[in-house]
Amino acid sequence: MIGELDVLSEWIPEQMRPGAIFVLENAGSVGEKDDPYWAVLSCPSCGTLGLITRKQISGLVPVICGSGNCSVQFFIRDSEIEVRKPF
Ligand SMILES: [Zn+2]
Repeated sequence: MIGELDVLSEWIPEQMRPGAIFVLENAGSVGEKDDPYWAVLSCPSCGTLGLITRKQISGLVPVICGSGNCSVQFFIRDSEIEVRKPF
């Protein structure tokens, strides 16, 4: 599990290693109005790519990996990853 995000300034699929994040060019204009999609994140644990929203990138809502055999949950704190402890 990677503990820090690697912010990419360009969309380079080969560099989307676990923990890499790329802010969408049309960030804020896709998805729900009050919480639009903002970036593509490679799961810091398994590397599965997923879209994250503005609330997730600002740490208000946890990110949950979409992969069925991972399902890790974490918060984004600036560029750090804070794993959500199970209750
Ligand atoms: Zn994962």
